[in-house]
Amino acid sequence: MIPASLFLLLWLPMAVALVLVLGCGAYYARTGQTLARRKRTPNIYRCAVCRRVYVEARDLPLARCPHCSCMNEVVKRG
Ligand SMILES: [Zn+2]
Repeated sequence: MIPASLFLLLWLPMAVALVLVLGCGAYYARTGQTLARRKRTPNIYRCAVCRRVYVEARDLPLARCPHCSCMNEVVKRG
């Protein structure tokens, strides 16, 4: 049997749990910053009238064609 003090038996599991909690907090804080920094890719639209392809940075179900002002649905979401 390994001799261990009562202080070590109480302190060691608490220290390991504290390190795990702080590590998880640091990981999720870093992941959140990474997701917030990632720029959203724009949606791609094709005009039904003039057949031009254009992009819109905002997430809209319909976007106005810059050439003929016709409203079009998204072809590919970013
Ligand atoms: Zn158009």
